[in-house]
Amino acid sequence: MTHTDNIPFLDLVTPHLELEDLLVAAFRSALRSAGFIGGSVVEDFERAFAGFCGTDCCVGVGSGTDALRLALMAAGIGEGETVITVPNTFIATTEAITQAGCQPEFVDVSEHTYNMDPQRLRKHLETQCIRDRRTGRLLSRRTHSPIAAIIPVHLYGQMADMDSILQIAEQYTLIVIEDACQAHGAEYFSRKENRWRKAGSMGRVGAFSFYPGKNLGACGEAGAVTTNDPELARQLRMLRDHGQAQKYYHDLEGYNARLDAIQAAMLRIKLEHLGDWNAKRCEAAHRYAELFSPARDVLVLPYEPSWAKAVYHLYVIRVADRDRVRTQLGAADIGSGIHYPIPLHLQKPYRRLGYKTGDFPVTERVASQILSLPMYPTLRLDEQCRVVAEVMASVARPVAQPETESSFPAEHAAAD
Ligand SMILES: *Cc1c(COP(=O)(O)O)cnc(C)c1O
Repeated sequence: MTHTDNIPFLDLVTPHLELEDLLVAAFRSALRSAGFIGGSVVEDFERAFAGFCGTDCCVGVGSGTDALRLALMAAGIGEGETVITVPNTFIATTEAITQAGCQPEFVDVSEHTYNMDPQRLRKHLETQCIRDRRTGRLLSRRTHSPIAAIIPVHLYGQMADMDSILQIAEQYTLIVIEDACQAHGAEYFSRKENRWRKAGSMGRVGAFSFYPGKNLGACGEAGAVTTNDPELARQLRMLRDHGQAQKYYHDLEGYNARLDAIQAAMLRIKLEHLGDWNAKRCEAAHRYAELFSPARDVLVLPYEPSWAKAVYHLYVIRVADRDRVRTQLGAADIGSGIHYPIPLHLQKPYRRLGYKTGDFPVTERVASQILSLPMYPTLRLDEQCRVVAEVMASVARPVAQPETESSFPAEHAAAD
């Protein structure tokens, strides 16, 4: 290995080379049976993924965006209602809200987890919403539309503080839908239940994406919805397939949003390796943390709460002069990314919502500092040493450290 080898941001080739024989055999078997849509291959994967997540049901769909949209619809959320989420997420979260006929409303994230801040959620519901005297429903002060649901996003493979969010949701009778599209296998210690729970198993519904670059990725587009509610799963099965449970007998208008059998077969094979791949991502994350330890006061490393086990879909650090650091990494042939450069409330399609710069200070501040470093199961120590050396050499000034939010663990503890 010479010093000039390229270190990619993501390595999608190696895992497929390692599994090539199995994947090709599964593809051949689909060709020979012409079993492309539905059937036992899809059901096998759904059963296995439900088992992995610890849920009773899993419904395979065409993408993570489908999963979120159909989850909202199957949960009975629709036309004119408001769904609360965070501005620091991929646009699919809010696209799904809009496509379900609802409007997104944002609450800011925690500076530690970069995920929904339960205290800000509580404050938002207490101060930015009012009770409709006639219907008793909670209305957004901004739009006068009823608040129906909350979508916490487990961004970067890091869990949102679910006990607190679920407790608040229960208090206000709101439905919780987890966007677990980056968090396959991430775990949260529920104090309420005194046990570890997997991402996608805690809310009413969980939505997963199997886009190729996710921790569990298809060889194309795919997604899934998880739930413990069999009636909701039945609705989802109809919604993904033109509103029919029996061919040509339509109970409602649905979508073409099915998981196809070839992707299900690929996913079934790869699911066997997900635990191992996630463990390797965690090892790589811990190596980064060790290698960066001399620089802890100039940059911010991912937060590791005692109550969660992240699966490091992304390894996101914060630096003061992010764009310059990123350029230097690029010059050294090291891939990196920004997730995400423009908070959603400031993106063009959401101008109609009337938000402005300054509305979500944490999201806005971190958006200019976050930098995603190479992260994948096959990332080697020598590669990480080079990444870290390059970052440390290009960081010229320290980034402000997040304040120790004394009330942050307290909010979690309050959920007992
Ligand atoms: C990838 C992703 C989605 C959308 O998944 P697709 O399969 O690309 O439709 C939704 N939310 C988050 C947070 C994601 O990372």
